[in-house]
Amino acid sequence: MTKYSKEWSGLSPEVRGVISQFQEEIPVKIGEVVKSFGVELKVSTLDIGISGMIFPSSDGHKIVINKHEPSYRQRFTLAHELAHFLLHRHLIGSGISDNILYRSKLSDLYEAEANRLASDILMPVEKVKELRAELAVERLADVVSPLAAKFGVSEEAMRIRLGMK
Ligand SMILES: [Zn+2]
Repeated sequence: MTKYSKEWSGLSPEVRGVISQFQEEIPVKIGEVVKSFGVELKVSTLDIGISGMIFPSSDGHKIVINKHEPSYRQRFTLAHELAHFLLHRHLIGSGISDNILYRSKLSDLYEAEANRLASDILMPVEKVKELRAELAVERLADVVSPLAAKFGVSEEAMRIRLGMK
């Protein structure tokens, strides 16, 4: 099991508090989390190869995610864009577009930060431990699929959360 990231620890207690409230319920209602920060959200058709974007709007920021991608993928993209908002707001400029590899005009270092925070938002460590214990399954490999389904994430994302790769 991986621990909370330094990105999560670096958020203000207020911001962590807001997110934590939504983490009481699994799967985390990530759309509600985004809206609670005053960010507009739209699920729409984007150019092929673009998973999501965040850009300034008339009264704050807006996130658009690609409706043609699977729902677990849309959820991760949403959390990833929210992470850019929370961590890299000063770098958004006229907007950030993330391709399917979560690469954008920002450096890969920032993209890795956004991915780690997205994982912490969607898969809070304590809840993963709790639900894993409830499964009463011995082998780590056997918990990946049921846990991914419960948290609404890809098996790959869950594997990373569990420290398997
Ligand atoms: Zn990104």
